[in-house]
Amino acid sequence: MNMTKMLDEILKDKTSVAIGGHVRPDGDCVGACMGLYLYMASVYPKIQADVYLEEIPEPFEFLRGTEQIKHTAPKNKRYDLFISLDCGDSERLGFSESLFRTAESTFCVDHHISNQSFADINYIVPDASSTCELLFRLMDQTRITKEVAEALYVGIAHDTGVFLYSCTAPETMEAAATLLRTGIDANAIIDRTYYVKTYIQNQILGRALLESILLLNHKCIASVITKNVMDFYEAKPSDLEGIVSQLRNTEGVEVAIFMYELENQVFKVSLRSNGNVNVSTIAQYFGGGGHERAAGVTMRGTSYDVMNNLLRQIAHQLPKESGKQK
Ligand code: AMP
Ligand code: MN
Ligand code: MN
Repeated sequence: MNMTKMLDEILKDKTSVAIGGHVRPDGDCVGACMGLYLYMASVYPKIQADVYLEEIPEPFEFLRGTEQIKHTAPKNKRYDLFISLDCGDSERLGFSESLFRTAESTFCVDHHISNQSFADINYIVPDASSTCELLFRLMDQTRITKEVAEALYVGIAHDTGVFLYSCTAPETMEAAATLLRTGIDANAIIDRTYYVKTYIQNQILGRALLESILLLNHKCIASVITKNVMDFYEAKPSDLEGIVSQLRNTEGVEVAIFMYELENQVFKVSLRSNGNVNVSTIAQYFGGGGHERAAGVTMRGTSYDVMNNLLRQIAHQLPKESGKQK
């Protein structure tokens, strides 16, 4: 099917649309929500659209329209359509799940392999680099403004590790090229939203690297940041973005585990793989999800319990020799 027609079809006769993404929104999530919101404002101006997201990380606030984002769900509002973006399951919508539940109809655009097609209409492509790349396919390219392009570019750049990860396909580069032609300042966008770190972010990254340990015959690297340490640095979860990728860059490592304590004995776990271990199945086993090479889950217990449970599952997937503890 012609993808632009698909969006046209879905938005036909709709007067009110809510757009939502996953909890603790990242670059792809914010980029997708704002990209679609801005596109709809210019191409479908008659539709009243609202974006529902948790507080977004400060570097994304330069995107047009982010001050309009709603952070709480109205009790009695019922939308004609709820569009879920970059979210693997309805629970991960967080506070906006109530609007998803009560909406007349629902549409989901996503690239998580763990996504079970939870909406009425689903456009899910696990191979795609990002939700922003999928939205690009749904849009009429000739009507993508510079503001829409900025938002989509943020999402594509972030979810590909700035066009490095294996999910970067020729189509990803083609989409990025089209977005560049709208005149966006790609260098500044990537610098500002991806590379620049606050002093605190760098300090906590240093600490996580310093305290990391090698496990499973050096095939696995792990690091934990406790609530005490987060409080000491006054760090937010978004300040820890990127630590797990840095751990994964360690020579010889197959899997990187990074976890931080959300509250007492509740850990947000990030898993990254260099290709031989499917971390999505491991995250799903514990109730989370994600992609083959990047997945996440929230787990309870002491950090030792959580680590042991994860290592057992990782060892299952490693060849027998390398799975042994050194
Ligand atoms: P993270 O480690 O949080 O950066 O997440 C890696 C990937 O897994 C991202 O695409 C997330 O959207 C996804 N993910 C993280 N946590 C969960 C979860 N609890 N359930 C489903 N997907 C998740
Ligand atoms: Mn995301
Ligand atoms: Mn994504």
